[in-house]
Amino acid sequence: MMDTRSRKSKSCTVVGGCGFLGRYLVEGLLDKGYRVNIFDIRKTFSDDRVSFFVGDLCTKEDLLPAITDVGVVFHCASPPPASNDRALFHRVNYSGTKNLIACCREAGVPKLVLTSSASVVYEGTDIENGTETVPYARKPIDYYTETKILQEKEVLAVNGMSITSDSAQQLLTVAIRPHGIFGPRDPQLVKKMAEMARDGKMKFIIGNGKNLVDFTYVENVVHGHILAAEALRVGGPVCGQAFNITNDEPMPFWTFVSQVCTGLGYPAPRYHLPYLLVYFIALVLHFISLLIRPVKNIEFSLSPMKVALAGTHHYYSCQKAKDELSYRPLVPMDNALEKTLESFSEMRAETK
Ligand code: NAD
Repeated sequence: MMDTRSRKSKSCTVVGGCGFLGRYLVEGLLDKGYRVNIFDIRKTFSDDRVSFFVGDLCTKEDLLPAITDVGVVFHCASPPPASNDRALFHRVNYSGTKNLIACCREAGVPKLVLTSSASVVYEGTDIENGTETVPYARKPIDYYTETKILQEKEVLAVNGMSITSDSAQQLLTVAIRPHGIFGPRDPQLVKKMAEMARDGKMKFIIGNGKNLVDFTYVENVVHGHILAAEALRVGGPVCGQAFNITNDEPMPFWTFVSQVCTGLGYPAPRYHLPYLLVYFIALVLHFISLLIRPVKNIEFSLSPMKVALAGTHHYYSCQKAKDELSYRPLVPMDNALEKTLESFSEMRAETK
């Protein structure tokens, strides 16, 4: 029979478990025999094997019941980056994470795994094979990233702190930094590309089309999270560390876009636009939106941040995860894209 300690170590709470990554993480943990609680501000699906807790990460009374008596908390809740709402990001990603840490210590949770982001080091200029030693961005590309940095610093800094209920026991923490997560049910990356292709807006390539970027299949990201949680032990090399998790197959951003378009039956983008020209236009639009903001709040769809993401190298080394977590991507890129495009079959050109 399982003793209390091993039962607790195989039970966990996924904060943000109703989101894209969170739900895959829940499924991965169930497959590995974990008892799973989900804590989220909304409930998006039902599963009899899971206990659901609906509440706000920023509210202690909501959170505590969901993390009582679990061995690991996975934190992958965040407002969507596209909302660009500074106050909301600050409240959820920063204050909410501090609340979660306080609750973990109060409830006696021994392990906390944060979903951070590789973008915490990205400033809009080329990063090639970036390692975890690259310093945090001094000028983060948006409010979302600004608060992902604050959040990660907070989580890693509390590693080794004692747990309130048992001062001999420590809270062990680790941060996973994925990049460009995609897969079936992906509500952002592939879906947005497919919508643009369907609407005839995928004609132009920004720059020479050769800039390399990481796209990471969601099940590989899940694998990295579970490995990290299971590798956390007092005094071990994983504690208080950040790990890039990628597919380890960076590819040109525009090749990925083209494969999504053609895979769904749409033409690939063909016409090149000079990177600096498009960036300049995006900057001008950005200043116009700042100037008219007191009168009217307009967000142009072309922003300097989007241009940079589409036209610079940003890919990262996952060597540290290979060395310390024995991480290897489980699903290679060609297979990952095939599964993903199959799942978006309702968006194929011929079914319009
Ligand atoms: P998602 O929007 O699908 O999921 C986030 C979940 O958090 C949602 O279910 C949402 O309801 C929940 N949430 C938001 N505010 C909350 C609150 N106040 N209290 C409780 N729950 C709340 O996003 P995702 O793409 O699955 O991202 C998951 C994590 O991965 C995030 O931390 C994100 O920063 C990180 N990440 C994502 C990507 C990517 O490409 N999608 C890349 C790097 C890092």
